[in-house]
Amino acid sequence: MKISVVGTGYVGIVSGVCLADVGHEVVCIDNNAAKVDDINTAKSPIYEKELDELLQRHIGTRLKASMDLPQAVVESDLTFIAVGTPFDGDLIDLQYVKQVSKEIGAALKGKDGYHVVVVKSTVVPGTTDEVVLPILEEFSGKKAGVDFGVGMNPEFLREGEAIGDFMNPDRIVLGGIDDQTREKLAEAYAPFPSTDKVMVNNKTAEMIKYASNSLLATLISFSNEIGNLCSSIGGIDALDVMNGVILDKRFSPILETGERIKPVMTTYLEAGCGFGGSCFPKDVKALISHGVNVGDPMRLLKSVIEINQHQPKQVMDRLRKHYPELAGYKVAVLGLAFKPGTDDMRESPAIPIVQELVAANAVLTAYDPVAQEEAQKIFIEGGIDYCDSIEQTVAGVDAVLLLTRWPEFKALPEILKEQGASPLLVDGRRLLPKDSVESYEGIGI
Ligand code: NAD
Repeated sequence: MKISVVGTGYVGIVSGVCLADVGHEVVCIDNNAAKVDDINTAKSPIYEKELDELLQRHIGTRLKASMDLPQAVVESDLTFIAVGTPFDGDLIDLQYVKQVSKEIGAALKGKDGYHVVVVKSTVVPGTTDEVVLPILEEFSGKKAGVDFGVGMNPEFLREGEAIGDFMNPDRIVLGGIDDQTREKLAEAYAPFPSTDKVMVNNKTAEMIKYASNSLLATLISFSNEIGNLCSSIGGIDALDVMNGVILDKRFSPILETGERIKPVMTTYLEAGCGFGGSCFPKDVKALISHGVNVGDPMRLLKSVIEINQHQPKQVMDRLRKHYPELAGYKVAVLGLAFKPGTDDMRESPAIPIVQELVAANAVLTAYDPVAQEEAQKIFIEGGIDYCDSIEQTVAGVDAVLLLTRWPEFKALPEILKEQGASPLLVDGRRLLPKDSVESYEGIGI
C-alpha cells in the first residue's frame, strides 16, 4: 500500500519507518526542511532505540521524506495526520491539524480515485468528524463518504519503547466514518493479522485514546497518594503495600497451571515523583477541559493532575529534611528525561526540581544518558554542571537525587562504595533497594 504520513515527530517518524518495514511504500512529510534532510540522510530526528537501524535499512527504497505534501497525497492511497496537538491550558491547539487538513483537502481536489485521510494525532472526541472532515470537504470540493474516507487511528506507542510498541501492538483501533474507510485503514494494518482490532466510529476511537491514558495516569496518582500517606503515617513502605495489592487475582491472574501473570499495568502502581512526558499530562488536562466544555466536570481526573503536580515536592521535602538550607551544598541529579529510553524532557518532574535547586543556590551536577542536550534548551539560565558519567556526577556531592528510571543508575551503590562516599540518596523512582546505600530516602516510605 502507498502511505503518506504528515508530521515526523515521535509518532510520525516511528509510524512511517515501521509501516515501511512491514512492506508499505511510505512518504513522510514535514514542513521542517532540516528534519526532512536529516531523515533522507538516515539521521533520526529523535532518539529512540532501533529507529536508526530501521531508518538506514529503508530510506531511499520503501521510505522517503519530503516537504511536498500535495504530491505525497496524490501518489498515496492513505494519509495519516500525525502533527502535534499541544494543550494551551484551555483547549487542545488544533492549528497544525487544521493547517494540514486544508493542505490535504486542496491536494484531494486534483486527485482521481478514492483516498482515505486518517487522524493519528490525539484529538478530543468529535474533532475528526466536526473539524477535520468539514475542512477536507471545503478545500477539496468533494464529499466525505463518497469521494474520500475519513478515519481515526489513535497511537498508543510509548516513548522509549516506540518501535517495539508499534511492531507488536496490543490493539489497533480503526475508526472511520463508514466501512469503506475502516476497510482501507485495516489494509494498512494487514501485516499485523494476530493483533486485536477494534472497529468503531471516529468519536469512539478518539475517546479510547483519552480513556486509556487517563486510566494509567489515575493508577499513578492513586499509588502516589497512597505512598504519600504511607510516608506520613510512618513504618510502612508503599512498595510492600502495592506488592500486596497487586497479588489480587483480578490484577495478577493465576493460571490453571498455577503460574501467575503479572501485567505491566501493575508497574503503574509504584509510587514515584510523578508522571510527565508529552501525553499523560496533556491528554488528561485536555479531557478535563473538554468535559467542562460539554458540561461534565471530570472530578476524579482533576485530582489526578493535582496529586501529580505535588509529587516533585515530595523529592524536595526529603532533601530538605537533611539540608534545610541548600545554598552551597553539592547536589547531583541523576536523570532528566521524564522516563528512561527517551530524550523527551516535556513535563519531566526533573524540571521543577532542578529549577528549585538552582533558585536555592545549590551547587548542581546533572547526568542523563541521552537528554542533556534537550535539558540545556530548558534550563537556559544555566547553574548546572552537566557531566558525562554517573561517577563524575556524584563525586564529592552531599546528596544525589534519582529522577529517571534509567537501568544504568542501578550501579550507583557500587560507584559510591568505590568512591568511599555516602551522600544522601533521594530515590524519586524507588529504583534502588533502600538498604543499598547508607543514607536513603524514597517516595512512599
Ligand atoms: P511532535 O511535536 O514531536 O511532532 C509533530 C511534527 O509535525 C513536527 O515534526 C512538526 O514539524 C510537524 N508539523 C507541524 N505542522 C506541520 C505542517 N503544517 N506540515 C507538515 N508537518 C508539520 O509530535 P508527536 O509527539 O509526534 O505527537 C503527534 C501527535 O501524536 C500528538 O497529537 C500527540 O498527542 C500524539 N501522540 C504522541 C505520542 C508520543 O509518545 N509522543 C504517543 C501517542 C500519541
